[in-house]
Amino acid sequence: MQRTVVVAGGGISGLTACYHLAKSSSTPKIILLEGSSRLGGWLLSTRTDDGAVFEHGPRGIRPAGSVGKNTLNMVSELGLEDEILPVPGDHSASKNRYLYVNKALHKLPSSISGVLRTIPPFSKPLIWCGLRDFMAKRGTQPDETVHEFVVRRLGKEVADIAIDSLCRGVFAGDCRRLSLRSCFPILYEAERKRRSIILGMVLAGGERPHFDSALIRRAKKERWSQWSLRSGMETLPEAMEEFLRGRGVQIYKDTPLQQLERTADNRWKITLPGGSIVADHLISAVPAKVLSQLLPTSEEPLAKELRQIEAVSVGVVNLQYEGMVLPVEGFGHLVPSFEDSTLLGIVYDSVAFPDQNHCGAASTRLTVMMGGAWFEVGIGDPDKVSHDQILCRAREAVTSHLGISETPTRAIVKLHKACIPQYTLGHWQRTENIFKYLKHQMLPLSVVGASYEGVSVNDCIFSARNAVEKLFQYL
Ligand code: FAD
Repeated sequence: MQRTVVVAGGGISGLTACYHLAKSSSTPKIILLEGSSRLGGWLLSTRTDDGAVFEHGPRGIRPAGSVGKNTLNMVSELGLEDEILPVPGDHSASKNRYLYVNKALHKLPSSISGVLRTIPPFSKPLIWCGLRDFMAKRGTQPDETVHEFVVRRLGKEVADIAIDSLCRGVFAGDCRRLSLRSCFPILYEAERKRRSIILGMVLAGGERPHFDSALIRRAKKERWSQWSLRSGMETLPEAMEEFLRGRGVQIYKDTPLQQLERTADNRWKITLPGGSIVADHLISAVPAKVLSQLLPTSEEPLAKELRQIEAVSVGVVNLQYEGMVLPVEGFGHLVPSFEDSTLLGIVYDSVAFPDQNHCGAASTRLTVMMGGAWFEVGIGDPDKVSHDQILCRAREAVTSHLGISETPTRAIVKLHKACIPQYTLGHWQRTENIFKYLKHQMLPLSVVGASYEGVSVNDCIFSARNAVEKLFQYL
């Protein structure tokens, strides 16, 4: 009898799980249940009538590494190659990244000569941090915060300015709480294997599995730092939905899972708004906390681990100005928490992706990111804060950081609640406990998504693919 696999959550992780299930020769019956009225989760784009594109979630995907190449392969298979907007290595958005420190923009060094000189906001050449790394002792703890690790290996200044900003840019999180082992596993491994993280990264082993395609070779040749899609990142879930429907996957929107019960024959009875269905296997691609609330009380040990994986809220404000109003050219700037904890950074979208500007006159598009781990203290309760309040704060930042005082011709405010999971100290232990529990209890359940093994779009796609491969081995 054909088995039924239910995938819960139609974000990029759930869609990827369905994609690999549907591509297999031993395809089970696949049902995708999405709680909201659309697929894609945080991949959310606004396309205006005059041809502009505004991203409210991810905008730039990195092509590097196994995870980046795996995504490029999927994009090729979906026939989206012609939609790709690459940012080549020699583009200003690849070379110029800024920090806003002491009320001024500072370009980060992008060449060897840059690390040999003292470049503000740093008080000495960054080469000294490299030398310090070679002298530093190997860590002895199973995990430490990103900040502690970087202070130990590269010094306090790099930790307070560069790494603090980086963690805010990637995780909207606080490097003094985030786990090095889970947020930057490559650095953790590099120290374990080579003692020096610089040496460890240079000598890192080849990719496993190995990926190759014409698109991957092109990305390598042109040294893409990142890419997007012409009509916005939401094009990806749209293409996946079309593919899945073509393969007979049953897709139900506005259908949130409400409760899970284990049946006597080790299947799931899934309660939905209008009734219930039974699944031989469930792939959960909803946030960890949501899954913890669905599980029956018999699975409390699992629910307890899942509940501890918190997520932070981010205010995302897209602004459009007529003409080229930016004082610098680059990808954007990040703000360390000591400068302004509420303001995470500003992305200069029109520099990296000018093809997404509206037709006609030149324009500038910016995205201001706010809040994250500092949302409640700096902005307020995400359930009560008004969009006007967020817009006002974003416009103030654009004026003070970039000197742009013009009125934007377009402004879109989104408040994404609990949108980025935080891998805090000990996250590796929590995920290990979760995976062990699933195995030992022989639960017909796989967990995928940003809550566990990487928050980037690439990580989500890669881990969903791996979960499906494991499931097929098991089945
Ligand atoms: P989600 O997108 O959260 O999907 C989960 C889905 O489950 C949602 O559709 C939700 O509606 C659904 N759901 C919830 N509860 C239920 C229920 N009970 N029943 C059924 N369905 C349910 N990554 C990058 O690589 N590059 C970037 O530039 C980048 N920028 C980002 C900017 C922002 C503002 C944000 C928020 C994230 C960004 N990310 C970026 C991270 C990346 O976009 C996310 O980590 C990734 O999209 C998460 O995908 P997911 O499918 O795991 O989760």
